[in-house]
Amino acid sequence: MHKLKITAIFLFILIGIGLYSVKGDSSNPENEKIEKLLRQMTLEEKVGQMTQVTLEVVSKGEGPFRMDKPWALDHDKLKDVLINYHVGSILNTAGEVRTPKEWYEVIKTIQDVAINDTRLKIPVLYGIDAIHGMYSAEATMFPQEISMAATWNPELVKKSSEIIAYETRACGIPWTFNPTLDLGIDPRWPRMWEAYGEDPYLQSIMGTESVKGYEGGAIDNPNHVASCLKHYIGYGAPRSGKDRTPAWIPETFLREYFLPPFEAAVQAGAKSVMVNSGEVNGVPVHASKKLLTDILRGELGFEGVIVTDWFDINNLVERHHIAANKKEAVKKAILAGIDMSMVPYDVEFSKHLVELVKEGQISEERIDASVRRILKLKFELNLFENPYTDYKNYPEYGGEKHHQIARQSAHEVITLLKNEDNILPLKEDAKILVTGPNANSMRALNGGWTYTWQGEKTNKFAADHNTIVEALKAQSTNIFFEEGVRYPEGNNDYKVDEVVNIDKAVKLAKNVDYILLCLGENSYTEKPGDLDDLTLSANQLKLAEAMISTKKPVILVLNEGRPRVISSIEDQLKAVIQLYLPGNEGGNALADILYGKVNPSGKLPYTYPRFVNDLLPYYHKFSSSTAHNDGNINNNHEVKAQYEFGFGLSYTTFKYEDLKLSKSEISTDDELEVSIKVTNTGQREGKEVVQLYTTDVVASISPSVKRLRRFEKINLKAGESKMVSFKLNKNDLSFIGEDNQSVVEAGEFIITCGSLQKKFHLLDSKNL
Ligand code: BGC
Repeated sequence: MHKLKITAIFLFILIGIGLYSVKGDSSNPENEKIEKLLRQMTLEEKVGQMTQVTLEVVSKGEGPFRMDKPWALDHDKLKDVLINYHVGSILNTAGEVRTPKEWYEVIKTIQDVAINDTRLKIPVLYGIDAIHGMYSAEATMFPQEISMAATWNPELVKKSSEIIAYETRACGIPWTFNPTLDLGIDPRWPRMWEAYGEDPYLQSIMGTESVKGYEGGAIDNPNHVASCLKHYIGYGAPRSGKDRTPAWIPETFLREYFLPPFEAAVQAGAKSVMVNSGEVNGVPVHASKKLLTDILRGELGFEGVIVTDWFDINNLVERHHIAANKKEAVKKAILAGIDMSMVPYDVEFSKHLVELVKEGQISEERIDASVRRILKLKFELNLFENPYTDYKNYPEYGGEKHHQIARQSAHEVITLLKNEDNILPLKEDAKILVTGPNANSMRALNGGWTYTWQGEKTNKFAADHNTIVEALKAQSTNIFFEEGVRYPEGNNDYKVDEVVNIDKAVKLAKNVDYILLCLGENSYTEKPGDLDDLTLSANQLKLAEAMISTKKPVILVLNEGRPRVISSIEDQLKAVIQLYLPGNEGGNALADILYGKVNPSGKLPYTYPRFVNDLLPYYHKFSSSTAHNDGNINNNHEVKAQYEFGFGLSYTTFKYEDLKLSKSEISTDDELEVSIKVTNTGQREGKEVVQLYTTDVVASISPSVKRLRRFEKINLKAGESKMVSFKLNKNDLSFIGEDNQSVVEAGEFIITCGSLQKKFHLLDSKNL
């Protein structure tokens, strides 16, 4: 072949590769800028972009967190990290909680060095765990995700994420590590409260709305932030129930239950994903090419940035023992598909990665692919033009409007689980003894990731907000308070509580009409929240028994991140109210509900277990309830919940009637319309969550007893009726088959709505 011709073909291929590498869109000016930058970057600069360190690394002094004042950025360390190591991302916080103005100064200083003093002037991507409110003074603290799930109100989730985005940007930060989409399938796990509960469909709907709220469809808008889905995947199902321990999840179930929320949120446009610190089926997710590259990128089509969790490349050596040394760990993680390493304390990652490329163990193209994605995110966030936002442009930060929405959210969170003899609502002149370790704690109302990682400074930083007892006192003069049990300040084991003056509480109880017993948990997250026993603590049960023995009506208020077992006292309580972790407005919202100013409408986003040996989600299999009966020995075991998934009472009553299906037989191409009439049959206005479940009667993979497919929260005046209708299609009847493919199988299905049921037949089967 003629030399010129060969050169022409070669050039053609090269151009082809070039175009392909910018995803076939050379006309996009952003892509051109990215490619131009990439061409200018040294290998070290590229690897630097893939490196994320904590703010502590560029802080004055030594040691983790550095919570004491005065805190200061260390300019020399900052310059070293940004100029010599080309670090592209910084995360989290150090020092005391700061104001938006103080945050602005920190972020501005960092970006000024990045823009003015580094060779290529690439801004830093700053990320933070603003999971229910920004880590800053006077920020609006919304209910945590588990609580937001209990609202069953996707609009509120979107609105709260919008406000968190606004307040995070008010502090100059464009990236939050949220929403969390870990399936809350095991209440022992200490991070169950960080996500939207046990159901994959509810988790998908709420996760999608959260992404929309954070990102607003355009993250160059300085009121929005990039979101980060976490922790991909299988984190919430450790066999031991302990944080960051191995999960065993057959691929069929991984795809059936765990993957759909991530798929939905990726489709909603989420810009980044953080990886599960644990291992699934013996493979740490940080080293799983199958999970990161084949499934997340290949099947789900995720094009954003994949970031590791804290220290997790090193953990491939230290925790999982799948790499002999750190360099091998870096190689495994990068080849699996990691774009950015949350190192977070040193720059060793960069050194190893540069060596691996120089030695030909990892190609530079592989590095380019990650850097391209990171630069793209920086361009999309408009950081090159606007590297930091100015707190002065965010007048609504922490203001009344935001608090009102947080309070409305908290109203809709609160779930009334028991109300014997309609004891609630209470009259305003009722004499109430408020007791329990959660009665006077802003920290317990908020949970972890509030102002700090473990939330241990919340009582100080949220002091302006009302605890439960303060909120009640603001509405009534008949409130008496004695803690009985408390969480000792300064104890580093956040599970510890201690008895104080139960006798005094018993004495006070003699003169009141009701006892409001506020129990649950102190704030925690991650390993510090690991438990030995899901039962409510012995001291708190002791207080409960003392209160019950006074024969005064006891109203239990639960304020907890996971459902602690209460079956030994439950049948002696008159009422039970679940707050979960309702945030800074939780105390006020509870007072509004107790006094009947607001009608409760929350529904459980998980199954509240009755026994520690019955920790199954509502969508367990038929055979989870077993019977042994051979005439001599009877042993029937039914899965018994204390309270069912989706359950929650109101101060009014609702009647479900006229459940209708558009057809009694459908094919896989048809849609099925389901309608139902719901009437408020009580005396007051209220909100009801209409829930539609399907049951596949016979299937090749044993079906669940039921699965949530649709829901709608409606408001009804006293006496008012509404028709609610839902459309179902083949996807709602499908499941993951034995070959890990989605399939629908012909046969009988049952629709359940309220206590009503109807059957229909699916006429044909199909692989989807
Ligand atoms: C947690 C993540 C968090 C990260 C950064 C980790 O320990 O598992 O959820 O986003 O730290 O703070």
